[in-house]
Amino acid sequence: MIWHRFRIMTIAAICLMLPPFCPRGEGGDQKGASAKYVPQIEKKIQEELGSLETLYKHLHTHPELSFEEEQSAARMAKELQSLGFEVTTKVGVHGVVGVLKNGPGPTVLVRTDMDALPVTEATGLPYASKVRTRDKEGKEVGVMHACGHDMHMTCWVGTARALASLKNNWQGTLVFIAQPAEEVGGGARRMLQDGLFKRFPRPDYCLGLHCDSRLPHGHIAYAEGLLLANVDTVDITVRGKGGHGSAPHTTIDPIVLAARIILDLQTLVSRENNPADPAVVTVGSIHGGTKHNIIGAEVKLQLTVRTLKDEVRQHILEGIARIAKAAALGARAPEPIIHVDLDDYTPAVYNNPPLAKKTTTLFRELLGADKVHEIGPVMGGEDFGLYGREGVPIFFYFVGTTSPERFAQAKKDGVQLPSLHSDLYYPIPEPSIRTGVLTMTSAVLNLLEKK
Ligand code: ZN
Ligand code: ZN
Repeated sequence: MIWHRFRIMTIAAICLMLPPFCPRGEGGDQKGASAKYVPQIEKKIQEELGSLETLYKHLHTHPELSFEEEQSAARMAKELQSLGFEVTTKVGVHGVVGVLKNGPGPTVLVRTDMDALPVTEATGLPYASKVRTRDKEGKEVGVMHACGHDMHMTCWVGTARALASLKNNWQGTLVFIAQPAEEVGGGARRMLQDGLFKRFPRPDYCLGLHCDSRLPHGHIAYAEGLLLANVDTVDITVRGKGGHGSAPHTTIDPIVLAARIILDLQTLVSRENNPADPAVVTVGSIHGGTKHNIIGAEVKLQLTVRTLKDEVRQHILEGIARIAKAAALGARAPEPIIHVDLDDYTPAVYNNPPLAKKTTTLFRELLGADKVHEIGPVMGGEDFGLYGREGVPIFFYFVGTTSPERFAQAKKDGVQLPSLHSDLYYPIPEPSIRTGVLTMTSAVLNLLEKK
């Protein structure tokens, strides 16, 4: 996603807010007093755990890049079919939609993403990915589930199994979706464009979870309201006039011009924007020129823009165009070409406050209040926010996946744990699956409880 570049911030922000943790397990402080189905869910998880762990490892060793999730989608579809869901495939390229109707009641959508990243795995795990493929530029790359979407799929399957087995205890409709291409910001949009909310029962609620690389397992983090930012990608082609390096007066040097634009852009956030309204403008890539003694004709810049408010987003995007054009004018250069890729845009994830409150009150009963962390908004992005923009209340939360031992060792060594998207990131399968399935299954039951 547009996340890749900022998950580090996300997780760092979460970690800063964490109290000292105590891992869930024997002697844990799970209460479950009012969460009456917890024993049944836990029994089901126990029964399924071996098979879910096998599924997780299978998915981990068979990662697929964004919009190439053919095998993952086929597996997700098969899993739902075996549970009695009515399954439709190829909704938005490789999207899978499973519907399970169980009498009158609300409709709850549970989403997993499926795509992996062009990262060569270096964890050394026995089930590490050895998959290699070619990226869009034809370059050979390793492929790895470095963002934990394999864990999301596993928890999603576990939740579907648990809910199917507890069918007598809830009523309503389940819509389980396996979404392609979260990492490139296009999967949710493609599923919606392909009629997700029209061809299938329109959800009353949408739920999703994400692995957290630096939160210990057994813990979750969430926000009531804004959780993640608007994220845009912008391409600028800075145009000049090429020529010999010895005769700069006969050229318009696009590299000097691009450097000026990059520095001028720094004033957008620092001088034009209200400091109380967070915004980040990052020039993540600059490419221009071919050789020491040639002044090239153009430079290409790739930017990401992160904002929390829509009006700030508008101001920053307009400001980028204004600054780039003004700098070009000052240099006698042709007007730069500026492209804001709206297909890549992911709107802010805004957790519906009543839904967040209802769900996390339950989570506190399940996990213990000390393991449920409310955090402020962070500047990462997720295309899950698009479902909310369709007018459906959404709730998205982070699930801790790291072992307490690894945590302690990292602390002792004074090093940072690998972030999501790192070639060294891996969740601890068993407890991560437990927490993911327990929380998601309970969250759904909480919304579909039989009267
Ligand atoms: Zn990611
Ligand atoms: Zn992800």
